[in-house]
Amino acid sequence: MSAEASYDIAIIGAGPAGLYAAYYAGFRGLRTVLLDGLPQVGGQISTMYPEKLIHDVAGFAAIKGADFVAGLLEQSRRQDYDLKLEETVSEMVKEGDAYRLTTESGLTFQAKSAVIAAGLGRCEPRSLPALDGVSSSNIMHFVPDLSVLNDKDVVIAGGGDSAVDWALAAETRAKSVTIIHRRPRFRAHERSVEEMKNSSVKIIAPGEVLGYRKEGDAEILTVRDDAVGNVDLPFGKFIMALGFVSDLGAMGTWGLGIDGFRIPVKPDMETQLPRVFAIGDVSEYPGKVRLMSVGFGEAAIAVNHAAAAINPGMSVLPGHSTNEA
Ligand SMILES: Cc1cc2nc3c(=O)[nH]c(=O)nc-3n(C[C@H](O)[C@H](O)[C@H](O)COP(=O)(O)OP(=O)(O)OC[C@H]3O[C@@H](n4cnc5c(N)ncnc54)[C@H](O)[C@@H]3O)c2cc1C
Repeated sequence: MSAEASYDIAIIGAGPAGLYAAYYAGFRGLRTVLLDGLPQVGGQISTMYPEKLIHDVAGFAAIKGADFVAGLLEQSRRQDYDLKLEETVSEMVKEGDAYRLTTESGLTFQAKSAVIAAGLGRCEPRSLPALDGVSSSNIMHFVPDLSVLNDKDVVIAGGGDSAVDWALAAETRAKSVTIIHRRPRFRAHERSVEEMKNSSVKIIAPGEVLGYRKEGDAEILTVRDDAVGNVDLPFGKFIMALGFVSDLGAMGTWGLGIDGFRIPVKPDMETQLPRVFAIGDVSEYPGKVRLMSVGFGEAAIAVNHAAAAINPGMSVLPGHSTNEA
């Protein structure tokens, strides 16, 4: 198979660490491609907590997850790089001095170095068996824009932080909000659960979604409510906030020495493969702290070392960004 394009650096994963690495690679003048299997950038922030406030990233006293991702994307886009979404990298093999990456859709890329910023790995949202084969634009796993919930009867399935956060976010704008959880106790943050209990959100717990049907334009869930028996629940939007199944998948066969869910790295973030680096949640070394602020530092370390490794004329230490135009 002939390679589609060749790059200095391929970054796998467009979560916060990967986005910042893309900015930094551009800052170092490296020809860069950034790949993610999901249809949107932002990794865990976009999939799990776009509406939550983040308090511990440098420079912001508090910033909404979605706004932080927008800022990371805007910053990275000041550099010129290729962004390929809905492209899960399934294979990476060494060919001479470069690596050939292949995605599940069959695209191939050559890169002199790679930065793996795969976080928890490829993420697939969990679905309800009762809805197998059902396709409706009103059923979703996460809400890209809260305004789609305006004046709707919103039903949410799930008992964790995401489910409760969506319920609280929907409550101020939806016509009604019902949350269904299989157990009596929610796993979410206690303060959020208390807030939900004191709100207008209707709670069905224990309860379970048993089926779905359409009657004309109306979409209806059949729900087992342990308090009253089976009930019909018409909905305008149904959010399945049941968490994600994630795994590093094919990466286990790339020769990275993966230990469980993590890729061991040296102090310069290089893995056991030459010029292949790992950063963010996926990387592992003694003393590792899994926080975004740490991942940003690792991105700068990895990209600067990659720059020097692929071009011995380049220094590991970059100039200061304040010297840029
Ligand atoms: C509810 C919640 C709240 C949090 N709050 C905070 C907080 O306040 N402060 C903080 O610092 N951290 C917080 N975190 C943790 C933080 O979100 C993670 O540390 C951070 O997202 C890790 O970034 P990352 O870029 O390493 O990986 P991720 O965000 O996991 O992104 C990895 C990306 O790689 C992609 N990917 C994986 N494998 C492939 C492949 N083979 N091909 C293509 N793409 C691939 C995935 O699709 C994903 O988009 C929170 C996490 C959760 C769940």
